[in-house]
Amino acid sequence: MANISEAEIREVVSQVLNKMQTSTSTDWDSTHYGSRKFVGVYSDMNEAIAAASDGYRAVRSMTVEQREAIITEIRRLTKAEAPVMARLGVAETGMGRVDHKTAKHILVADKTPGTEDIVSNAKTGDNGLTLIEMAPFGVVGSITPSTNPSETVICNSIGMIAAGNGVVFNPHPNAISTSNYAVDLVNRASKAAGGPEILVCSMVKPTMESASVMQSHPLVRLLVCTGGPGVVRAVLSSGKKAIGAGAGNPPVIVDDTADIAKAGKDIIDGCTFDNNLPCIAEKEVFAFKNIADELINSMIKNGAYLIDSAQADRLASIVLVDVKDKSGKTRKIVNRECVGRDASVLLSKIGINVCKDIRCIICETSFDHLFVQEELMMPILPIVRVDNIDQAIDLAVKAEHGNRHTAHMHSKNIDNLSRFARAVETTIFVKNAPSYAGIGFGGEGHTTFTIAGPTGEGITSARSFTRQRRCVMADSFRII
Ligand code: NAD
Repeated sequence: MANISEAEIREVVSQVLNKMQTSTSTDWDSTHYGSRKFVGVYSDMNEAIAAASDGYRAVRSMTVEQREAIITEIRRLTKAEAPVMARLGVAETGMGRVDHKTAKHILVADKTPGTEDIVSNAKTGDNGLTLIEMAPFGVVGSITPSTNPSETVICNSIGMIAAGNGVVFNPHPNAISTSNYAVDLVNRASKAAGGPEILVCSMVKPTMESASVMQSHPLVRLLVCTGGPGVVRAVLSSGKKAIGAGAGNPPVIVDDTADIAKAGKDIIDGCTFDNNLPCIAEKEVFAFKNIADELINSMIKNGAYLIDSAQADRLASIVLVDVKDKSGKTRKIVNRECVGRDASVLLSKIGINVCKDIRCIICETSFDHLFVQEELMMPILPIVRVDNIDQAIDLAVKAEHGNRHTAHMHSKNIDNLSRFARAVETTIFVKNAPSYAGIGFGGEGHTTFTIAGPTGEGITSARSFTRQRRCVMADSFRII
């Protein structure tokens, strides 16, 4: 799997911009894109599951080499159509950035592991040979988010197909056309590589009811859910084996040994990636008070706009709204109209007009501020001044809310780095880099868009979607 070079990203971005200028296609919905009708999209969840089950049976009868050929074709089509999916994702959801979404698709194509991730184990001894193989579950039911819609469908499909499964998706209703574009892409790749015409399936109109049919259907053997706390809770109470990839609120600590100029740039680069939609992106900063001014200056040099506390409170009253829960208690949730929007759009809501170069809104706040406590998923970054490492770790761990998802730190002090990593217990911990290094973008390791903290699979890959099977040959087949 090749790394993504900066030159490659630049090339794709320029292709996207060219296409944006020349394309006029607005003819798409959850069943088609232009003249192409999506394959594998159903109006009834039971039919979708039956088709995914046929797909599973077809994959089961294939060689691993044939499976890998399908995955190679998925990678090729994903790279070729990354700009189209990126543009569609932004057009449909109103969230994120076309250039960054394009880069995310290329990352998925290049760095999602395939069949090489499935490794068998053998144990030999006086009593013969025992073989442990990683088998498919069958049909996997996958619930996907609006924040990385096609990226998640393609990434999960590669891993699940590599493991030998069929897949039925119940995508986020706000991103259904983009998600179904990706479902169709996987099916086109399957057909082109000699696989079944329908390998993965989805819904014309996914609903809570279709999710519930999926969760209770006997043919669905594994549930994989990528989204906020509500949906993770729902699948974990389904009574089935479930992989839950839930919400995060990644804190960043910057101490006074860090390269402050670089920390400011890295944090803004990570925080603004796809307008802060990735669940791993920097959400709040705890900066030592003796370097906080220098850090803020570095952020401003790198495209941040500093607002004061009155402006921050005004912005908070717009980007967060009140809802009543079942018990009648009022709580704050993010305003969907603000999630993943450009910093300039958010600033205009409080009467501040800035140029497009401004990519992030920063503000100094107290620890209790809603900007620190809520997972905003927009380019707004609160900064809390701290006295020392004890206070930094204490507050950062609290702000992460026990999600154990992702945390970041900029420091050259090994003791401080180790102490925070141990205390916060996150699935991903990134040191001295933008957050996206944690999913293989400018950092080592494979990528995923399903980071399963609650259920422990972590940075999921093909092997996460398998079940162990053991085969024992007693007293034979040992060759020594
Ligand atoms: P969301 O929670 O609104 O929706 C996710 C999916 O769950 C959608 O398909 C939605 O229709 C479905 N859903 C919601 N409640 C459900 C229920 N009770 N039963 C069945 N299905 C239900 O998420 P979103 O706004 O699209 O994505 C953002 C959230 O997802 C953030 O909290 C983010 O941190 C998280 N996320 C996590 C990861 C990860 O890998 N851990 C990746 C992406 C997003």
